[in-house]
Amino acid sequence: MANIVRPINNKVGVDDLVMLTDVSESALNNNLEKRYKDGLIYTSIGPVLISINPYKQLGIYGQEYINLYKGKHEFEIPPHIYSVADRAYRSLLSEKENQCIIISGESGSGKTEASKYIMQYIASITGGNQEVERVKNLILESNPLLEAFGNAKTLRNNNSSRFGKYMEIQFNYAGNPEGGRITNYLLEKSRVVGQTEGERNFHIFYQLLSGGGLSTEEKNKYSLLTVEQYNYLSKSKSYKADGIDDAQAFAATKKAMKVVGITDDEQSQIFKLLSAILLLGNLSFSATQATNKTSTSAGCVVTEKQILSTIASLMSVDASLLEQSLISRMITTGQGARTSSYRVPQTVEQALYTRDAFAKAVYSKIFDWLVRSINRSMEVKVKGTVIGVLDIYGFEIFKNNSFEQFCINYVNETLQQIFIDLTLKTEQKEYVEEGIKWEPVDYVDNKPCVELVEKKPLGILSLLDEECLFPEGNDNSLLEKLNKHFTSHSHFAKVPLTAKTGQFIINHYAGKVHYNIEGFLDKNRDTLFNDLVLLATSSQSSLLVDIFQYVAPQALEEEDPSMMSNNNKAARDRLQKSGFANQQAKSLIPTDKKRPITAGFQFKSQVQALLKSLYSCSPHYIRCIKPNETKRQLEWDDDKCAQQVKYLGLFENLLVRRAGFCYRQTYQKFMRHFYTITPKTWPKWEGGKDDPKRGSEILLEQLVQQSIIKKSDYQFGKSKIFIRIPQPLMTMEEKRQQRL
Ligand code: ADP
Ligand code: MG
Repeated sequence: MANIVRPINNKVGVDDLVMLTDVSESALNNNLEKRYKDGLIYTSIGPVLISINPYKQLGIYGQEYINLYKGKHEFEIPPHIYSVADRAYRSLLSEKENQCIIISGESGSGKTEASKYIMQYIASITGGNQEVERVKNLILESNPLLEAFGNAKTLRNNNSSRFGKYMEIQFNYAGNPEGGRITNYLLEKSRVVGQTEGERNFHIFYQLLSGGGLSTEEKNKYSLLTVEQYNYLSKSKSYKADGIDDAQAFAATKKAMKVVGITDDEQSQIFKLLSAILLLGNLSFSATQATNKTSTSAGCVVTEKQILSTIASLMSVDASLLEQSLISRMITTGQGARTSSYRVPQTVEQALYTRDAFAKAVYSKIFDWLVRSINRSMEVKVKGTVIGVLDIYGFEIFKNNSFEQFCINYVNETLQQIFIDLTLKTEQKEYVEEGIKWEPVDYVDNKPCVELVEKKPLGILSLLDEECLFPEGNDNSLLEKLNKHFTSHSHFAKVPLTAKTGQFIINHYAGKVHYNIEGFLDKNRDTLFNDLVLLATSSQSSLLVDIFQYVAPQALEEEDPSMMSNNNKAARDRLQKSGFANQQAKSLIPTDKKRPITAGFQFKSQVQALLKSLYSCSPHYIRCIKPNETKRQLEWDDDKCAQQVKYLGLFENLLVRRAGFCYRQTYQKFMRHFYTITPKTWPKWEGGKDDPKRGSEILLEQLVQQSIIKKSDYQFGKSKIFIRIPQPLMTMEEKRQQRL
């Protein structure tokens, strides 16, 4: 274990990029590469931790490392994820203030692993009674459960999270976990009905079919086939994932369900629904001739009646009603007393679409239900201080960018804005308050870009919603509107006519992204016909009824534009309001007077709620980098890494950090820590004695004389000392340790 805690003079590159002598993007990259190749995956930029996926076990985690990092200040010890967790925890205790740890990076860069290390660290350094142990167990067990339903093998990561997650752990007055809450974002539900070749559907399907732990009787009860027999699983031609044992994982999933309080009966209902989802994919439809003379539209019927009836029995719904809901649509026209409804047959193509929409809806609603179950098991009635951990997909620029990338990049844009807001603005504010002289830095303010997406009534999301309301609205009419309204917007660009049509460009902080308009309306409408909602709520399965009756609270429906102001109390109140307690079913179907809840609208509300909670926290950042595309150990792909450094805004981050002061501490605390290191302050100035500021001045004078620090590298504020760079602090720390 001695190999990570290297002697401070014997480091590879610099621990903290602030100490780079050559301040350039290439020096930054080189330093990361050099360290990474030497097995040093962690480097910091002040309080921001950069983590590079090693793709191998480094042996730098676990109890002894936890002990090593516990209660240590960053200057005392090389950068590590535990340091960040420890800092967040210490600040929570000392400042009695909410903390959040924001983890970002692209798929496969190590975000989820990082979040697990943080949870383990917190669980390990806190003590407590039986109730605390129960909560900790829930926090840890919620992970395998959500991974089973929310993770999948992709080309980039065998255990890729297909949802974003914000997990808050609430602490009691003694600093022990007493509860928690998970918020999930944008589950990639399209994966339920199809995957890219070589990828898999969500793990849980393979777990269920692995047969691990299921009796023959159960297998019959769930009408399970083999993986190859399901269209929703077989098309991508991948059934196994390296490093994942589905049967074993299934046992873990079931155990976690039990811990979370999901009963045997509920489990069995979930497994039945999963089986039904898979079977839906095996249904096909045959076209029928129009029989009614007045109607010209031909319809279709379900071809496989046997499968249909199995699905109906698994879902405990009426088989003919199920067929009816898949092959036709109830249309309602008119208003009030003049309302009339009639059934319109669907084409084969429409029926297939409806079938897939139903499968996706049932699955994503099960996922939401699981999150609610976990939350119920960890719910605390009284509000306390929290540490939130955000594990969310990073910026995405693919060959083909659609609505999903648009949403993901929008959330990243807002996260970047928080970063700028909190790092720069609060920093500048403190300098002013303390009377510190410094050069204000220019920074890219990405607020205009966020506004381009979310502003009302003229933002992309609003225009999209509006277009979804017009019966004749389509992707192209939306594109025309965007082009018309945003021609002169600094962050928007039309795609020239000569190029591929059907695209628009957003100039994000991380670069220009071309979005294909195709599918935007459809994905935003996210329509599930009322027939299917009614069908589901007519079920004898209490679970199916429950998941379809649930309506997410729309506490943030009408957002005030001033939400960016750091209004902690309001944020907290808002959080409370949207809490689990009043998340009861409100209505079966959104009433027709209210506008329908679109996917974009729902996502925006979620993002704004997230922002509110983050703004009420002291933030900590972990920036994850994926060093190569091939999951190979210690291999460094120059271009790929440089690109991520750019997307993560690391160089700007470094410039800001260098322009400011990396260390600030009240005189009292500063003296208490360092008074031993000069003969003029030891032992006389212990804790600063009566005048810690005077003590600090004496101490610094001594250090200047010993050439440990330059006069230009520190300033005395009203209540705090400010030191610009970490180098002298490290030397001071070394001296202090020698004195111990
Ligand atoms: P992300 O959540 O960013 O998509 P993951 O956290 O799932 O990425 O990491 C992908 C894989 O990389 C993990 O399954 C694991 O094999 C490996 N990995 C990530 N972080 C580490 C680490 N700190 N040490 C060893 N392996 C890691
Ligand atoms: Mg992940």
